[in-house]
Amino acid sequence: MTAQTNTHKQTIINSEDAFKNIVSHAKEYGFVFPSSEIYDGLGAVYDYGQLGVELKKNIREYWWKAMTQLHENIVGIDAAIFMHPTTWKASGHVDAFSDPLIDNKDSKKRYRADVLIEDYIAKIETKIEKEVEKAVKRFGENFDEKMFRTTNPRVLEYVKKVEEINIRYKTALEKNHLAEVKQIIEDCEIVCPVSGSRNWTEVRQFNLMFSTQMGSVADDAGTIYLRPETAQGIFVNFLNVQKTGRMKIPFGIAQTGKAFRNEIVARQFIFRMREFEQMEMQFFIKPGTEMEWYNYWKEARMKWHNSMGFSQNKYRFHNHIKLAHYANAACDIEFEFPFGFKELEGIHSRTDFDLKNHEQYSGKKLQYFDVEENKSYVPYVIETSIGLDRMFLAVLSHAYKNESLSDGTIRDVLQIPPFLSPVKVAVLPLVKKDGLPEKAREILDSLRFEHYCQYDEKDSIGKRYRRQDAIGTPFCVTVDHDTLTDNCVTIRYRDTMQQDRIPIATLSTVVEKKVSLKNALKNLH
Ligand code: ATP
Repeated sequence: MTAQTNTHKQTIINSEDAFKNIVSHAKEYGFVFPSSEIYDGLGAVYDYGQLGVELKKNIREYWWKAMTQLHENIVGIDAAIFMHPTTWKASGHVDAFSDPLIDNKDSKKRYRADVLIEDYIAKIETKIEKEVEKAVKRFGENFDEKMFRTTNPRVLEYVKKVEEINIRYKTALEKNHLAEVKQIIEDCEIVCPVSGSRNWTEVRQFNLMFSTQMGSVADDAGTIYLRPETAQGIFVNFLNVQKTGRMKIPFGIAQTGKAFRNEIVARQFIFRMREFEQMEMQFFIKPGTEMEWYNYWKEARMKWHNSMGFSQNKYRFHNHIKLAHYANAACDIEFEFPFGFKELEGIHSRTDFDLKNHEQYSGKKLQYFDVEENKSYVPYVIETSIGLDRMFLAVLSHAYKNESLSDGTIRDVLQIPPFLSPVKVAVLPLVKKDGLPEKAREILDSLRFEHYCQYDEKDSIGKRYRRQDAIGTPFCVTVDHDTLTDNCVTIRYRDTMQQDRIPIATLSTVVEKKVSLKNALKNLH
């Protein structure tokens, strides 16, 4: 058995460049393309390429199985994108699904007013953390962080400022007092990141739903909406599933699918798209048990994220300052993207808001008869809602590394968790002759029923390794002349670049151990 290791370190670059590199890497290797690119693209709409579609499918499958297969009381559905227009009246989207927007008169750039304020608050919070870091260095082991946070005058000043803005901002949003929102932006002296000026327009509300016409004759045509969330497809099917599946509360319904929002500011690649995919689960519970289940799902979802194997510091909970019209508790799981901590998933206690409203608008009872309680009630709901595209970006941005190797070369590598990698194994004959391609194809054929594999015989072996590193393939298997006699191959590991010689007969087990979704799910359970 030969073993070869290579020392390597990551090249340090600033986060803006890091993000640009990720976007261009995603395009160069067939993960994500701008939509209709030959016509110069369409704003905030993207297509997934040949490898992107595999990674996306694997993430979806991991979420789906973790939700449905691991929970006896959660089942899935696939509702249509088009829904009866009254759905969106009942859900509150027609009247209230809007964002406050503001324009900078000099740069002509449009922003979400709430995001400008939240980013400003985040900057102050970063300053607090910097003060704490400095103090840790200064005081060393004797440092009492709690004491420092509650007594240091500068920290206290920052905390007070954050609290003041939060209170003003929350009240302004609750009362839909848009002039006050603008006043906060002015009082905080928030400038446009592009022009640097404070020359702002008034704040206006903008509804995010896309509408279209259904029906062939213009007169008959009714306005319908492209769903802005998948959740409503679950609510309107609540009784269908409960009755036909004989589901007992507590139980959940999961769904993945497209959602559409006419986002005002759609930047940051696939983080904020106008057409995107959600993975949502609505958990129906007895009223009064919502905090217990809310906490359960917060923990369960964080566990799912942590199972990716990224550092736990990459995630944090963020409680909502302003609760949506339907929620009595809500938080986000935020992930540290290259452009900072941002929402990846929302966990919301939605009360009975949705089912009650659908009862009212449809005139149909949406209640559950609780045998133990001997009464009917409208269940409460805990929702977990994650954007598949944002999860994809989280995986990609964490996985992408530009490493300087000890031999002076640089490699791009995607350290995707192996069970999510698009290609699991690349089988590479050392040369294109002497029966090596045939032997390599034989190995490929033994693996392809289990895993998505690639065969590559072009270019030097070093170049082929680099190509596989760049798309995140965890294993390269090289077939050389000795393979024909000793039935062994060289297996190369993506992250360490270590190479081992192993019998072909053990290959499947070695690969399976690392890449199987089954093992990832077992660790979750
Ligand atoms: P944000 O505050 O970033 O606009 P949101 O609070 O409106 O997000 P939710 O309505 O809670 O988002 O949607 C649930 C999840 O769907 C989000 O956590 C996110 O992962 C995803 N999502 C929402 N909007 C988009 C979008 N425009 N593009 C991609 N993913 C999105």
